[in-house]
Amino acid sequence: MIDKHTQQLINKGEMLPLMEEFYTIQGEGFHSGKAAYFIRIGGCDVGCHWCDVKESWNADLHPPTLTNNIITNVKKHAKTVVVTGGEPSMWNLDYITKSLKKIHIKTHIETSGAYHLTGKWDWICLSPKKTKLPLPTIYPKANELKIIVVTKNDFKFAEEQASKVSDNCELFLQPEWSKRKKMTPLIVEYVMKNPQWKISLQTHKYLNIP
Ligand code: SF4
Repeated sequence: MIDKHTQQLINKGEMLPLMEEFYTIQGEGFHSGKAAYFIRIGGCDVGCHWCDVKESWNADLHPPTLTNNIITNVKKHAKTVVVTGGEPSMWNLDYITKSLKKIHIKTHIETSGAYHLTGKWDWICLSPKKTKLPLPTIYPKANELKIIVVTKNDFKFAEEQASKVSDNCELFLQPEWSKRKKMTPLIVEYVMKNPQWKISLQTHKYLNIP
C-alpha cells in the first residue's frame, strides 16, 4: 500500500515505479546500435500475448524510486536515455525529461501510445498495439513507427497505422521474436515491394545483451 506522500511524488513524476535500469546498446529501430541508458518503468495494461516483459505489467511489484536517483545513475553513463516499460506513458514524465534536458541528455521513449504522453522528447518511438490502440494525439508526434509483425495480418495493420503518422515518420516492421523464422522472410519481401518501410531486428537479442 503506497502512502500519501509517496503517491504525491508519483503524481508529480518525482518518483517512478522503476523495474530496472541499465546501460546498453539500443537494439531496435532507428537508433539501433547506439549506446543508451534504459529506464524500464513498471505498469502496463495493453496485454500483448507475446509480450517479452510480462513481469513489468503489475506496477505494484516495482518500487517507487526517486527520479533524482535515476538521473544520478544516468549521469554516470550516458548521453541518451530510452524510457520504456511496461507502458511508460501511464506515468507523469514531465519531471524526468525536464531534468534530463537540463543536463543535455537526449530523451527517447518507446510507447504504445495508449495513454496521454507527458514530457519533452527528442525521439518518440510509437509501437501501436491492436489490443489498446494509440490515442489520436500521439500520431503526429511520432518520429518512428514500429510495428511488431506476429502474423501476415499485421502488414494491413501497419499500413493503417502508417496512414496516421506524419510524412517524416520513420517506418519499421519488426518480427516478433518467437515468430522471427517465419515472419522475417515475409518482412524482407514486403520491404522490397514497399521501400518506405525498413526492417527492425532485435539485435540486442542476437548479441545476447539486455
Ligand atoms: Fe508488453 Fe509493451 Fe505490449 Fe505492454 S505494450 S504488453 S509492455 S509489449
